[in-house]
Amino acid sequence: MIDVHVHLAALPDGDNGCHISKEMVHGALFRFLFWKLGISVDEAKKSNERYVEKLVKLLRESKHVRKAVLLGMDGVYDDAGNLNKDATHFIVSNDYVLQTAKKYPDLFLAGISVNPKRKDAVDEINRCAPQGAALVKVLPNSQDFDPANKKYLSFYKAMAKHKLPLLSHVGYEFSLWGKDQSVGDPARVRMALDEGVTVIAAHGASYGLFFYEKYWNTLLELTRKYPNFYWDASALTLQNRVGMLLKIRNHPELHSRMVFGTDYPLPCYAYPALLAGKLSGYIELLRTSNPFDRHHRLLEILGIRGNSELLKDKL
Ligand SMILES: [Zn+2]
Repeated sequence: MIDVHVHLAALPDGDNGCHISKEMVHGALFRFLFWKLGISVDEAKKSNERYVEKLVKLLRESKHVRKAVLLGMDGVYDDAGNLNKDATHFIVSNDYVLQTAKKYPDLFLAGISVNPKRKDAVDEINRCAPQGAALVKVLPNSQDFDPANKKYLSFYKAMAKHKLPLLSHVGYEFSLWGKDQSVGDPARVRMALDEGVTVIAAHGASYGLFFYEKYWNTLLELTRKYPNFYWDASALTLQNRVGMLLKIRNHPELHSRMVFGTDYPLPCYAYPALLAGKLSGYIELLRTSNPFDRHHRLLEILGIRGNSELLKDKL
C-alpha cells in the first residue's frame, strides 16, 4: 500500500530551496504543528531531519503502508510566470523532495509540486521526471491559478508524456491561504483528464466546509466519465470532511477510484467508525497507535477497499 498524500514539511536551512513567510511561522496552524512535532524554527536543519526521522519510524512500524509519496509545495507566480515571493507563504522545493526520497528509496516517492503558471513549468516537469518524480501536486486556490486555463495545455501534455499523475487539492482551502475559491472546482481538471493525465482529487473532492458537499455531483460525473479520474482518502476523518467519507461509503461505484492517502502530519481519527455504527472496529482503531495503519483499517472497516493499481509499479 502506498500513501499518496504525505506532506514533507521543511524549514529553509539556507540551501534546501525552501521558504516560509514570517506570517506563516507565527500563524496558529504552524505554531501548533511545530509544538506537536517538537520542532523549532530556529534550528532548521535539525528540525527538518527530525521531521523525516519521525516519518521514517512510523512507516517502518506500519503493518499496511509500505511507502509514502512526499509532497512538495510550489509558490505563487505572477502573470509573467515569475515567482511572487511576497505572495508566497510556503515553498517545499522539488530538489528537497527528490533528495529526501532518494535517501530512503524503500520508503519514499517524490511528489513534486509545479505551479503551471511558472514560465519554466514544462521544463521543471521534464527535469524532475527522470529523477524519479512519482506525481505532481498542485493547490490551485493557494497557488492562485485556474487549472482550466488553455495556456496550461503543454503542461498537461508534458505530464501525460511522462505518465505523471496530477494530485490536485479541490474544494475550499483554509488551511493555507485560499484566494479565489472557485478554482477549487474539480470540474476544472477536465482538460488534464482529456489529455490523458491521471488526476487524483485530494480529500475525496470534499468541499471542506462540514456537511455541505458542493462538488458531490461533479465527483460522480467525473468518475462515470473518466477512467483516469481518482480521488484520495486523505484528511477525510477531519470533522469538516467526514460527511464526504460517510457519503462515499454508501456509493460503491466510487470505491474503486479511491487511492490511499492520509494527509500526514494531519491526524487520522477513529470516530468515523463509530458514526458508521462499527463499535468493535472503533475499539480496534482506538488501540491502533500508528496513524497510517489506523487510517487504512478505518477505510477497510467502512467497506471502502480502494484501488491499489495506481502507482503499483512503484512499490
Ligand atoms: Zn494535504
